Amino acid sequence: MNNDIERVLFSQEDIQEACRRLGAQISRDYEGKKPVVVGVLKGAILFMVDLIKEMDIMTEVDFLDVSSYHGGVASTGSITLNREIETDISGRHVIIVEDIIDTGLTLQYMLNYLNAHHVASAKVCTLLDKPEGRKVTAKADYVGFNVPNEFVVGYGLDYQEFYRNLPYVGVLKPDVYSE
Ligand code: 5GP
Ligand code: MG
Ligand code: MG
Repeated sequence: MNNDIERVLFSQEDIQEACRRLGAQISRDYEGKKPVVVGVLKGAILFMVDLIKEMDIMTEVDFLDVSSYHGGVASTGSITLNREIETDISGRHVIIVEDIIDTGLTLQYMLNYLNAHHVASAKVCTLLDKPEGRKVTAKADYVGFNVPNEFVVGYGLDYQEFYRNLPYVGVLKPDVYSE
């Protein structure tokens, strides 16, 4: 599996440091607020686990499953809601935890979903941001790292459901796509 990686963009240590920084910032911003932290399945699971351990506040955790990729390396633009948030989020402060924001379409969809459920506030924390990929205006409030317009895998991010368990974020060798 590691042999399929052309280069590492963010090491395990880089990511840990980002989690510490974001966790501390969120803890300051939400002091006394008891937010609901909502991880977006499946890409955000590793980030979610490490991030919440760095948050020194009372929080609930839940998950939302939306997909827009369906196995390829480009966003399809049509978003499917596979699992709803179970927590009653009406009147609550919600923090969405994402793996990566590219076109912004998924984020736009989720923010509409949160508004429709009358949340008190909605913010987004993403491990990675690809600002060049935007098709709609959608901004993350907390960002781990910016990435260039390249397809990345690891630390939760998949290519055809594999590579999620890599402890770092990297770029696949081109021949992996053509196999
Ligand atoms: P968007 O709707 O912003 O275009 O895309 C959001 C979702 O597409 C992300 O949550 C992620 O699951 C997937 N995605 C976008 N860029 C990448 C990438 O470079 N690598 C992987 N593995 N998934 C990506
Ligand atoms: Mg995602
Ligand atoms: Mg995917």
